[in-house]
Amino acid sequence: MNLANFIEIYCPNCGQSAERHYLLNDQLIRTQCAHCDYLMITCDRTGKVIEAYAPGYSVALGSGRRAEARNCPQAASASNPRE
Ligand SMILES: [Zn+2]
Repeated sequence: MNLANFIEIYCPNCGQSAERHYLLNDQLIRTQCAHCDYLMITCDRTGKVIEAYAPGYSVALGSGRRAEARNCPQAASASNPRE
């Protein structure tokens, strides 16, 4: 199965080339940059941010992450596979 693909984008954090992966299986969109460790995971169905990180700008979703996950059950299982 090849349910994931990605496009090349410009990193919103550092402006260099980054990758946006479409995880069709989990209905998630993951944007990541190898240059600055930028990371953003959003739910493709709801548009909600599941997880986000950028150097010098850390988004700690904490309990809010669980609230978001309720809107996106498949994302919850993807980001917390052991819970
Ligand atoms: Zn970057």
